[in-house]
Amino acid sequence: SLEQGPEGPETPIQVVLRVRPMSAAELRRGEQSAVHCSGTRTLQILPHTPAARSFSCTVFTFGQTGSGKTYTLTGPPPQGEGVPVPPSLAGIMQRTFAWLLDRVQHLGAPVSLHASYLEIYNEQVLDLLSLGSPRPLPVRWNKTRGFYVEQLRVVEFGSLGALMELLQMGLSRRRSSAHTLNQASSRSHALLTLHIGRQSQMPPVDPGEHPAGGKLCFVDLAGSEKVAATGSRGELMLEANSINRSLLALGHCISLLLDPRRKQSHIPFRDSKLTKLLADSLGGRGVTLMVACVSPSAQCLPETLSTLRYASRAQ
Ligand code: ADP
Ligand code: MG
Repeated sequence: SLEQGPEGPETPIQVVLRVRPMSAAELRRGEQSAVHCSGTRTLQILPHTPAARSFSCTVFTFGQTGSGKTYTLTGPPPQGEGVPVPPSLAGIMQRTFAWLLDRVQHLGAPVSLHASYLEIYNEQVLDLLSLGSPRPLPVRWNKTRGFYVEQLRVVEFGSLGALMELLQMGLSRRRSSAHTLNQASSRSHALLTLHIGRQSQMPPVDPGEHPAGGKLCFVDLAGSEKVAATGSRGELMLEANSINRSLLALGHCISLLLDPRRKQSHIPFRDSKLTKLLADSLGGRGVTLMVACVSPSAQCLPETLSTLRYASRAQ
């Protein structure tokens, strides 16, 4: 923050800052702007991102069921065939997709684009883009790939329309899968990943196998409500526990990552499937945005407070 001194504008020496726009040559070389002025008082410095190295951006939404997590990422559901959602209501995902494909088009350089979309339910990974009916896929680890999902379908896309279709396919799978038919509709975490690479690179066999290039992850977390609040028994209890385990593991990893005294080697990514799959996004080079979603209703206040506590711990 660039604060004005106590004397305000009357001081004899004033210092101002001017950031020039990126030059055409810098843009052509694929360099990214890392210095941003937001408003007249705040300067943001983004982490340095060498163009040829892997870089990831991750967006999470979290909060209790019904607080607007899915809406924030994907906007309102289509109102029917041929009724477009107004652009002002579009979710973070649609906006990012449009921005990304626009950038790729303007870049003029050949870029390969791949997407995968999965769901973690009861600590099981299900492929939302699988051709057959989804069955649990194993999460594996090896030295070169890190954590990856074996046999996850990774689909190449070349246009905004094709990517939107993949999103809709995953979303409708998510809505209609058996477990979402019961009252509490968001017991699973959904993770959509976009891989952006040079055309000369081989397409990835799975997401873990793409060390160079960029990666965008969108994570729609399961409802964060407590077990007691859902009155869960038996299977539902198991669900609530594994949801909380993943969420707690995620909160734990993030707070350790943000603690400058901790070495990255001590981050317990292995504690849940979710943190395993996000290990290279969170632990590597990249930026993460967490969107805390809350309902304004007085009925939801206890959960709202717990969401705010979770958000402030992750800060
Ligand atoms: P969650 O995914 O957290 O369970 P949803 O995204 O499904 O919650 O939102 C719950 C309901 O609230 C949906 O009917 C959704 O359309 C509505 N809603 C959520 N956020 C907004 C918003 N910002 N503006 C208007 N309606 C919203
Ligand atoms: Mg939801």
